Amino acid sequence: MDESNTRSDGDALSPHIHLNLNVRGLGPSATLAINERSAALQRQGREVYRLGLGQSPFPVPDHVVAALREHAHEKDYLPVKGLAPLREAVAGYFQRTEGLDYAPENILVGPGTKELMFIVQLVYYGDLVIPTPSWVSYAPQAHILGRQIRWLPTDPATGMGVTADALEALCRTDPERPRLLILNYPGNPTGIAYSPEQLQAIAEVARRYRVLVLSDEIYSGTRFDGEHISLARYYPEGTVISNGLSKWCGAGGWRLGAFAFPSQLRWLLDGMAAVASETFTSTSAPIQHAAIAGFSGGPAMDRYLADSRRILQALAGFFHDTLTAAGARCRPAQGGFYLFPSFEPLRERLEARGIGDSVTLCERLLEETGVAVLPGSNFGRPSSELSVRLAYVDFDGRPALEAAAGETVDEAFLRRHCARVVTAAERMAAWVSRDGD
Ligand code: GLU
Repeated sequence: MDESNTRSDGDALSPHIHLNLNVRGLGPSATLAINERSAALQRQGREVYRLGLGQSPFPVPDHVVAALREHAHEKDYLPVKGLAPLREAVAGYFQRTEGLDYAPENILVGPGTKELMFIVQLVYYGDLVIPTPSWVSYAPQAHILGRQIRWLPTDPATGMGVTADALEALCRTDPERPRLLILNYPGNPTGIAYSPEQLQAIAEVARRYRVLVLSDEIYSGTRFDGEHISLARYYPEGTVISNGLSKWCGAGGWRLGAFAFPSQLRWLLDGMAAVASETFTSTSAPIQHAAIAGFSGGPAMDRYLADSRRILQALAGFFHDTLTAAGARCRPAQGGFYLFPSFEPLRERLEARGIGDSVTLCERLLEETGVAVLPGSNFGRPSSELSVRLAYVDFDGRPALEAAAGETVDEAFLRRHCARVVTAAERMAAWVSRDGD
């Protein structure tokens, strides 16, 4: 007789006893959950405007896809820190795009920067310091690892980013405490970037208190004016840059990211590589070979980036103007795929319709208009605040890019080639400014 069938339920493996305490209560990441929910609603025949997940609308550039095809047969495990020519190409990318010199030995390749961020938080012992709002996964990663999370207060007037003053105020409370600050710009969820003066001021405080900074620059190539500047320019010895193919190269699903370390932090790279060798082993071989083409640049990539930026900039401007005309408060974006509007100025009107927090706002918006966005509470904002993150990416990027090569990217262009985003903006604006139900 099979004994397992005779056991009482009390003997069975149970989440109440056996689930790691730090994982209890965690659901799937908000970005992935909204994506799957949107897809499920579409399968049921619902019209859904998918502004939830921040995925590039553009195809991977053809020459990068060709490189992947050419290397599909590569099957060996590769070195844990990454394929040597790819580490060289990544170092070349930082030199070409930002004038920063990294030896290829100071580059670590991984299966997406998200995984590398988890590993750096595991290897480096310190509090996680992030501004509110911040991308959905930084805090849960720290929570899983049992790290303290310190949210830095922000001010809508300064774009809701990290300020040197807020960092200073936190560090002063316990100057010797080890800390890891994550700075992300162009920012997810706000789309804002930092000026050289702001970066310099943050660098000064970080240096004074020996704060390790993970500079998440994954959206660098989408900066609308093409003028991204790394924090590493001002704080080279304490900055680790995070970048990858997911955003500016349209290859989120390829899962390829890289960190660049200063020589002084080789011990951190080596510690991370030790963990990598015991966990993911090495990043997918064909993807690493193809990524060389992605990081190497060239005229085709330059054209692709320039056209992508023009479209993203026009969409950000259109969406911003449409929502602010309807009464929302919103900072204009400087890069990336996102806006982070607040509907607080419309609170009275929304409350009269039973909408008093960001989760209800997003649920009702999805239910009544089909527009899927994420609540500000997923990004560390108070749940009572009527803020949301929207990703203006629901359009087919290939024809849009082809058209952008020969056309002015104005509102008429957006209505022709990014019609779903335009409709979503107009539906959202009409919905929030509606009186009573
Ligand atoms: N970074 C993207 C977002 O914020 C999607 C990827 C992810 O969250 O894993 O929507």
